[in-house]
Amino acid sequence: RTSEPWRDFDRSQVYTADLESALHYLLRVELAVHGTLDGAELKVFKDFVTLVAKVTAESRTSIRLEVDLLGLLYPVGGSVVKLMETLSDWLLSLPLQQIPYQAILDLVDNKMKISGVFLGAELRWVGCQGSRPGLRGYPCSLWMLFHVLTVQHDATPTALDGSGLEGEAAPVLQVMRRYIRTFFGCKECGRHFEQAAAASMDQVTTQEDEVLWLWNQHNRVNTRLAGSLSDDPVSPKAPWPSPALCPACHEESNGVHVWSHANVLAFLRRHYGASNLNPRYSL
Ligand code: FAD
Repeated sequence: RTSEPWRDFDRSQVYTADLESALHYLLRVELAVHGTLDGAELKVFKDFVTLVAKVTAESRTSIRLEVDLLGLLYPVGGSVVKLMETLSDWLLSLPLQQIPYQAILDLVDNKMKISGVFLGAELRWVGCQGSRPGLRGYPCSLWMLFHVLTVQHDATPTALDGSGLEGEAAPVLQVMRRYIRTFFGCKECGRHFEQAAAASMDQVTTQEDEVLWLWNQHNRVNTRLAGSLSDDPVSPKAPWPSPALCPACHEESNGVHVWSHANVLAFLRRHYGASNLNPRYSL
């Protein structure tokens, strides 16, 4: 991003441009190394698309509806949500056991333009900007996307009804686990995440636990990576949220720092909730 101007942003907000860029990168770059999706891989991808489409659509605050050229009703705004819904419907309607990546790309690039749904051809990092190329960007936005999904699923627990995912104890985390294991380009990250998931994910049984499990796991990664090559001096890795961002999250017990889990949960619900999504810089 050498030639790109710095985009001012507020660390207490979540930018839809980062979430859109995450999906853009995922669909156009991460998936592109898979010539054909089939069997278990195709199922993992379908579940991921269903999760994003259902959870983000259900949790929108807007109740205005518009009719697009296909005659379908969508909440106004969020072309990426529309794209994921269209993709989800398309994937579910196909009885195929195999889908060439090219067909997915073709849908993303061309077919959906007809209905005014498309994913801009640009990556625009805002809260995930790195101070130099190679830092932050996609992995940052993928964490953010899954935090948003855990929080929005907690806000609308019925969103997944009828999707086939509602039977799982921690559907957002399980879909994330399978996505990371199958597709995430950073294989070392995938191995670490799989270890953490195998150790404790089966103890997660409520939506609240899903939100807190992911927060805690992310902090473990932050602690492990603090001071490493991937640490951006402008956005140093540290336990999150900082006392500046959430004073009530931090407590002291016998002179030792402890998290107030109740206040962390309340903070995460607010921070990653639909009303804290900032559309500035959005595609
Ligand atoms: P990130 O850690 O990516 O965080 C993005 C944003 O999320 C922060 O700016 C902040 O706003 C918010 N945030 C920070 N902490 C939390 C929290 N605890 N809860 C909620 N929100 C938070 N890299 C490796 O080198 N080794 C690994 O093993 C590894 N494992 C990974 C596993 C996964 C599942 C993912 C998605 C990424 C992994 N990465 C790993 C990448 C690494 O964690 C960072 O994403 C990357 O280095 C970019 O860091 P960042 O400074 O942009 O902040």
